[in-house]
Amino acid sequence: MLKKLSLLIGASALLFSGSIAWAAGASWSYSGSTGPKNWANLDPNYAECGWGKEQSPINITSAQSSSMGALQFQFQNIAPNLIDYGHSSQSDSAMVEDTHSLEDNLTASEVSANTLTINGDTYQLTQFHFHMPAEHHILGVTYPMEIHLVYRDAQAHLAVVAILVKKTRLKTANSLLHQIALNLSGQSAAWQDQSTTINLSALIPQDPHYYHYEGSLTTPPCIEGVQWYVMRQPIMITASDLNVFKNKIPGNTARPIQSLNGRVVQKW
Ligand SMILES: [Zn+2]
Repeated sequence: MLKKLSLLIGASALLFSGSIAWAAGASWSYSGSTGPKNWANLDPNYAECGWGKEQSPINITSAQSSSMGALQFQFQNIAPNLIDYGHSSQSDSAMVEDTHSLEDNLTASEVSANTLTINGDTYQLTQFHFHMPAEHHILGVTYPMEIHLVYRDAQAHLAVVAILVKKTRLKTANSLLHQIALNLSGQSAAWQDQSTTINLSALIPQDPHYYHYEGSLTTPPCIEGVQWYVMRQPIMITASDLNVFKNKIPGNTARPIQSLNGRVVQKW
């Protein structure tokens, strides 16, 4: 599966400053004739959305214990560069996953400074983005939002860390989500500011445990061989901050749940 992913990336993508760029494909959406049921038919490059047997997202209902150990994150400050691809028709040639959502593509120096090491393999963070509602379900529960940190290793294998976001009334709300919401409210389509920095370590739940399985990108071209790490503990957001994100990410940006097809989810 990993070999196949490398080949696909080699054949269909160009490398720019540490990010992967897909050749522009047919436009797609989350509903109607260009919605998820038809993604595979919209463009030959999207065929895997239909025939793939290890697709994402999934509903995690059971998992086998594993000794994989903690994800070893290294985070350094980055300048916020959040662009709302849901509202604008703007596309970004450096995008790994064209999410139609709120997304931050890191600069080359930010990419090399923000890494994830797991099982002796080191990945670099290329971008992060938001889905509403959450794409992965846990025991059938759907959280209102999910954040994807998209990592790539030197062989162009992809690993995505998924962080579920839960609504809270308590003062335990995540401070970085609050800071992002404050800066997005009132602005048209972005929070780009070279004069300040944020640190994505604030998005990682205190509890380091996760679910792991092998799946795909959740948007066209739905390529497989993606190592998924879904953090088991959600982070918290207040209702008012959640509303700011809702205004930026209109409609549904979650792909429907895909069949496990015999895959076994591991947990640590
Ligand atoms: Zn995503």
